[in-house]
Amino acid sequence: MSPSIPEMQWAQVAPRIGGPLEYKQIPVPTPGPDQILVKIKYSGVCHTDLHAMMGHWPIPVKMPLVGGHEGAGTVVAKGSLVSEFEIGDRAGLKWLNGSCGDCEFCRQSDDPLCARAQLSGYTVDGTFQQYALGKASHASKIPDGLPLDAAAPVLCAGITVYKGLKEAGVRPGQTVAIVGAGGGLGSLALQYAKAMGVRVVAVDGGDEKRGMCEELGAEAFVDFTRSNDLVADVKAATPDGLGAHAVILLAVSEKPFQQATEYVRSRGTIVAIGLPPDAYLKAPVLNTVLRMITIKGSYVGNRQDGVEALDFFARGLIKAPFKTAPLEDLPKIFELMEQGKIAGRYVLEMPE
Ligand code: NAD
Ligand code: ZN
Repeated sequence: MSPSIPEMQWAQVAPRIGGPLEYKQIPVPTPGPDQILVKIKYSGVCHTDLHAMMGHWPIPVKMPLVGGHEGAGTVVAKGSLVSEFEIGDRAGLKWLNGSCGDCEFCRQSDDPLCARAQLSGYTVDGTFQQYALGKASHASKIPDGLPLDAAAPVLCAGITVYKGLKEAGVRPGQTVAIVGAGGGLGSLALQYAKAMGVRVVAVDGGDEKRGMCEELGAEAFVDFTRSNDLVADVKAATPDGLGAHAVILLAVSEKPFQQATEYVRSRGTIVAIGLPPDAYLKAPVLNTVLRMITIKGSYVGNRQDGVEALDFFARGLIKAPFKTAPLEDLPKIFELMEQGKIAGRYVLEMPE
C-alpha cells in the first residue's frame, strides 16, 4: 500500500539571499520520471547551507530556497523510470541531487564535476522540508538497521572527508592534520582517518572541541585561538616533529589555508575542502618546489565514495557526535554555526 502523501508540508524557506528564514507550509513536490520523493526524517545542517543562504559564493543560488543536503528518510513515491528504489526503502539525499550522466566527467565517475549537476539546497530545493526530491540514480541506499539520525551527517560531511582523505594519499601510520577538526566535517574526518589507521593532529578552538577531538582519538589538539605559533605547535605535535604527511583543510576562514604549507611535511599533500568566502590559497613557490608539496582541492564524492563512506558507518567504525533539534530551530543553529560554537553536527528532526 502506498503511504498517504499530504498536499502541504513544513519547510524552512530562505526567501532571499541573506534570509531571514521563514518556517512555513509549502506544497509537497511530485517526482519526475527519474526521481524519488523521500519523506525526510532527519537532515544534517552543513556549513554549506549557511554559505548558500548568505550568498557567500559567486555561484548563482536558487531563491526562494529550501536548503539542506544531508537528508535521510524513506521513499514514499517514485517516477515511472525508477528501478533503483521501491516505496518504503530507506534513502539518503546528498549535495549532488543529480547530474547529466553523459559528459566526460559523469562518464568517468567524476559526477561532482558535471557542469549540469543539480545541487540539493542550492540549485534545487533540499532537505530542510518534510518531503524532498532527488534523482534515483544519485540517491544513497541507507542500509537497514542504521539509525537515520546518525546516518544523515555521513551523506555530505562523511562522504566529503572520506574522499578528501583518499585524495590526500595518506597511508596507515602516517599523520594527518585536520584543520577545523571540531566541526561537522572535522569530527567525521577524525573518525575516518582513525579507521584508516592514520594518526591525527586536530586543529580547532576551545575546550569543548578539544575534549571531543581527544575523545574521538586525536593524538594531539592544537588550539588555534590560543597558540602563539601555530606552525611550530602543529609540527611539534607530529610524532617526529617533522610535520604532517597530509593536511585536510575544513576551516571556514582563510588564514589556515596559508599556514598549512608551512607545517606540512616535505612531499606532503594539502587538501582544501572548506570553502571560506573570497579566500585564496597562497604558498611560497620556493618552499613548495624545494619541499615537493602538493596542494589540491576535493569536492564531495562520487556515488561509489558514498557507498564506501556509508559502509564504514554501517560497520561501526564511525561514531561522530551529533545533537538533534526540531526543524523549527534551524535559525538558532545557523547562529551558533556562524559563531563557530557547534562541536560536531546538528541534525534536524522533521515534524510528524
Ligand atoms: P563547521 O562550522 O561545522 O566547522 C568548521 C570548523 O572550523 C569549526 O569547528 C571552527 O571552529 C573551525 N575553524 C574556524 N577557523 C579555524 C582556524 N583558523 N583553524 C582551525 N579551525 C578553524 O563547518 P562544516 O559543516 O564542517 O563545513 C566546513 C567547510 O567545508 C565549510 O566551508 C563548508 O562549506 C565546506 N564543505 C565543503 C565540501 C566540499 O565538497 N569541498 C563539502 C561540505 C562542506
Ligand atoms: Zn555539506
